[in-house]
Amino acid sequence: MVTSCIMIATRFAPSPTGYLHLGHAYSALFAEGAARAEGGRFLLRIEDIDRARCRPEYEAAITEDLTWLGLAWDGQIRRQSDHMDDYRAALDRLGGLGVTYPCFCSRRDIAAAQSAPHEPGAIYPGTCRTLSLAERAGRIAAGQAYAVRLDIATALTITGPLSWHDRRAGTVTAQPELEGDPVIARRDAPTSYHLSVTVDDHLQGVTLVTRGEDLFAATHIHTLLQGLLGFTPPAYHHHPLLTNASGARLSKRDGAVAIRALREQGRTPDEVPAMVGWIIAVTP
Ligand code: GLU
Repeated sequence: MVTSCIMIATRFAPSPTGYLHLGHAYSALFAEGAARAEGGRFLLRIEDIDRARCRPEYEAAITEDLTWLGLAWDGQIRRQSDHMDDYRAALDRLGGLGVTYPCFCSRRDIAAAQSAPHEPGAIYPGTCRTLSLAERAGRIAAGQAYAVRLDIATALTITGPLSWHDRRAGTVTAQPELEGDPVIARRDAPTSYHLSVTVDDHLQGVTLVTRGEDLFAATHIHTLLQGLLGFTPPAYHHHPLLTNASGARLSKRDGAVAIRALREQGRTPDEVPAMVGWIIAVTP
């Protein structure tokens, strides 16, 4: 009898748009702890497709801060900006399936088309989904900038119903339609957050995605993309987010909790787990 044993691999995937704070420390410790608890691999990825917001000094600070925290990642760091060809190939495959369309809308157009644009979580109303092929071609030929969106309804007719396994939430039925048609390629890149993360987790062999529960909704879309692209879906564990004394989620703008600020204040890495209320909430 042949038994197969897949080694667990987790990852920490920060964006170099600011200094890491205690919320990131929690997330990184969580991912590393989940991997080590099962003798697996802990990977590091730099999510830097938003060139306007990412800075090299923040990227350097990420590795410095993680090292100070005592975290050691396995293998090479994957930097998204080095892998645009991988994303373009996936985008082309999705295009070949007929599940994408160019979207020429500006943020202002989208807000104007929404019935309640100021409601949080308002979704794209699908304006460009119904443009004729001639209209699309004409606008592209005229040099109008566009993003690429995923046509969720058509995509679901290809994949059928999908679900993912979440170590905290159990089996979750994917409902990507609740999010509206997401951007899978930005105006300035052949990819977006959703597409890069899905492709990277696949190419890096990530078997357990651990990340904050603020990204729970994104997993509906990532599950659909995995289904379309024929990727084996990883398991997920969306962990709770750290909040400050008034219950607000920690943010990069809150310099007081930056890892490097703690270091400058003379705190030691051993103190960090207690600061983040660390619990090994990892269930095999
Ligand atoms: N780059 C994302 C962030 O810094 C995390 C993406 C993910 O874990 O899927 O919030």
